Amino acid sequence: ADGVLKGVLAAPGLAIGKAVRLASSDIAVREQGEGAAHEETALLAALDKVRAKIEASASKGDKARKAIRAAHLAFLDDPELLAQAKSLIAAGKSAGFGWRSAVRGYVEALRALGDRRMAERVDDLIDLERQVLRALAGEDDEATILPPGSILLADELLPSQLMGADPGVVAGFATARGGPTSHVAILAAAMGIPALVALGGAALSIADGTALILDADGGSLRVAPDAPALEAAQTALAGRQARKAAAKAAAHDPAITRDGTRIEVFANTGSVKDALAAIENGAEGSGLLRTEFLFLDRQTPPDEDEQASQYQAIADALQGKPLIVRTLDVGGDKAAPYLPIPAEENPALGLRGVRVSLWRPHLLKTQLRAILRVVPPQGSKGGQCKIMVPMIASLDELRAVRAVLEEAKRELGVTDPVELGVMIETPAAAVTADLIAAEADFLSVGTNDLTQYVLAMDRGNPELAARIDALHPAVLRMIAQTCQGAAKHGRWVGVCGGLASDVAATPILLGLGVTELSTTAAIAPEVKARVRALDLLACQELAVKALAQTSPEAVRALVQSTLGA
Ligand code: PEP
Ligand code: MG
Repeated sequence: ADGVLKGVLAAPGLAIGKAVRLASSDIAVREQGEGAAHEETALLAALDKVRAKIEASASKGDKARKAIRAAHLAFLDDPELLAQAKSLIAAGKSAGFGWRSAVRGYVEALRALGDRRMAERVDDLIDLERQVLRALAGEDDEATILPPGSILLADELLPSQLMGADPGVVAGFATARGGPTSHVAILAAAMGIPALVALGGAALSIADGTALILDADGGSLRVAPDAPALEAAQTALAGRQARKAAAKAAAHDPAITRDGTRIEVFANTGSVKDALAAIENGAEGSGLLRTEFLFLDRQTPPDEDEQASQYQAIADALQGKPLIVRTLDVGGDKAAPYLPIPAEENPALGLRGVRVSLWRPHLLKTQLRAILRVVPPQGSKGGQCKIMVPMIASLDELRAVRAVLEEAKRELGVTDPVELGVMIETPAAAVTADLIAAEADFLSVGTNDLTQYVLAMDRGNPELAARIDALHPAVLRMIAQTCQGAAKHGRWVGVCGGLASDVAATPILLGLGVTELSTTAAIAPEVKARVRALDLLACQELAVKALAQTSPEAVRALVQSTLGA
């Protein structure tokens, strides 16, 4: 009624533009075939054509694009899908009908599982269904010519539609359905395109060409704004761009509060490319290297040499700056074929993180040896890598990892101390931080998991996405307790979960005692700029007040009213 639709943040930012509706017109398919041999040949040719197209672009683009293409190729080569389509063709159906039915059967089966990672795959399957049907019909790709400043509206946007769009003209997108962790959301974030999902059907009744203000961070899409609203958005956008540019210009200066407290701003990494982005954006090291990238989507685990050379490449890209390598965090829903983890009813509460490492200690030993083999650049003193253990729930687990680390050090003749820290991701670890900090060299809060466990809300459930906010006072109290426990033993506390990249949280985290923030590389300059504008004493006062709020909204309002941002 007020011209504002509410949605869920999928990729951050603010955009002003004009509506362009992408109709996902269904491709007509005839049911009956013209002979099994003819139809099968046609299907195989269409699959080849799509495969060739995907392979031709396989080496291009960033990690997100590559992952999506790999997922598409895997489905294209899925023997069950093909067998299902072929059996329908053998029963007299057309190639298109057979392919569509096979894909839809798969989609239904995945949806029935109710697992979020599986649900993400549904996007990929539907996308692939379309690509193959178009190839069968001899149609070329939809070359949508978009005017600059387009804000795309769709029921659900397909990854290939966004990949095919020119980021120079797409200002943002908003979908009626979809989840915040879908491939298309990850892609939008990588392309720097603000996006909202789950706006509901009203988003589809917006006429083409309507002026829109898409405030992804605020979760709102304003339709046909009046002149004052438009002007305010333009001023906000210009302000943001100016702030961003100024922060980028100062990205390589240290982050010191107005009253002289040095905060380390690091970046999270998962590849050499991320490490280069970290350096470019002034990050002072990497506070979290997610090593899963080396372990997923393969039949056997990487051996010690392969791991050592990958970690070395990332360490080199960081030019000798500190690198905190997290031991393998698979299990649960991040499945690896060579880890025969039995089916679990609650994967988030199952065999994952350090529990997997201690269940298969030879994998842990290999990984620790590989990390110990990383050599820092000549002339630098001490090792470049620290080691961090995910999903710790009690001190015993840290002791068990340390025992394996000591063994690995002995084997390799390493005598220098190597720091071993823990991630605080479980409520158990947060409330016993004083016990854990007695033996952990540092603590880093993984707010993504900590929030999911403290609030008992699945971090990937789109229905809960709007309520899973790490600024919930319950999560903040856990972080406060972590800092108090660490302080007893003189250990430093960092944050490497998503909250570190939220500048609304920066003053509260500093006020609670956090001294290291590991953010996404792109936001590191803005986090540094935020730190420089803060006063630690004021942050401490703000943090005390934040702990006494009753909701994350109230915490955000408190920050806004105290600091104006
Ligand atoms: C976290 O849980 O906050 C974290 C940093 O780890 P991941 O997102 O990889 O689970
Ligand atoms: Mg985690």
